Amino acid sequence: MSELQDKVCSREQAVERVAALKRPVVFTNGVFDVLHRGHVNYLHEASKLGGSLVVAVNSDASARMLGKGPDRPLNKAEDRAAVLAGLASVSLVTFFDERTPVALIEAMRPDLYVKGGDYDMETLEETRVVRSWGGDAVAIPFVDGYSTTSLVKRIRAGSGRKVAFLDRDGVINLDRAYVHKWEEFEFVPGAVAAMRRLREAGYELVVVTNQSGLARGMYSEAEYQALTDAMCAALAQAGAAVTAVYHCPHHPKGKVADLAVECDCRKPAPGMILRAAKELGVSLADSFLVGDKPSDIEAARAAGVGRAYIVQSDNAESSGEHVQADAAFKDLADCVAHLLSGPST
Ligand SMILES: [Zn+2]
Repeated sequence: MSELQDKVCSREQAVERVAALKRPVVFTNGVFDVLHRGHVNYLHEASKLGGSLVVAVNSDASARMLGKGPDRPLNKAEDRAAVLAGLASVSLVTFFDERTPVALIEAMRPDLYVKGGDYDMETLEETRVVRSWGGDAVAIPFVDGYSTTSLVKRIRAGSGRKVAFLDRDGVINLDRAYVHKWEEFEFVPGAVAAMRRLREAGYELVVVTNQSGLARGMYSEAEYQALTDAMCAALAQAGAAVTAVYHCPHHPKGKVADLAVECDCRKPAPGMILRAAKELGVSLADSFLVGDKPSDIEAARAAGVGRAYIVQSDNAESSGEHVQADAAFKDLADCVAHLLSGPST
């Protein structure tokens, strides 16, 4: 059995080797970046039209001219060629640097030019060229549902983490103004179990909380951190481990000079969510937020979070004319019960 690399050759070698191929010689071309069933099926069909099949792959420079995206092709020309060489339907693999293979076709003079896809072959320069020595050209439609571009899109969409962004005060714990001691911290009934359910359903838990009490000098960063550590430990103990907690310590009217600033993290600004997305690799479209204030919903919208839900809490500002949530629930437990109960409810 011949070696795989024997089927791959330079353009100059291909022009020489075509004479030794079994006729009729079928010629086709493409990028073949991530080989899928549609490609394999199409190459198989093309090979059946003649005695041998030559595949010309776009060089990397040529592939970039097709404008499929700045990071395409994903695989180098040599690698794409080696994969094609492994197919029984393929007799010879070579390369072309131009936008089209017209010059290569003129040099190789195949008997049949085949193009994959729904092309009007009559309009193609390749058809005119191959007919000039008595050859012909045909299009073979791709099998529906296969495309490297859609495959790459699907892989990327699924690559980010799904996150449940949770406001803290009023969603996780009862909102007693400026809670800063663990002794004063009380979980909203059902919230811990709901967070555990979210984790079990594949969501990472990320807390995004405005803590203007820091800017107002009502508690220190050390006190805030001690409370956060205690909360995270209790949640982890209950199977509801939090991936990260982001807090905004700022308020423009604060007393602590360093923190009395306009910032991009205090909700309704999206800064905390965007930072989490960057640091944790979050797929925002697949994520959602639960908050108890319109500013939470606005932050989620501004960040591009897929869905945003509002829950009631005694201390929440009245909503008025604000950005609408996707749905309103009694509390986090109610929200999660609806989200995870399946499509029938
Ligand atoms: Zn801030």
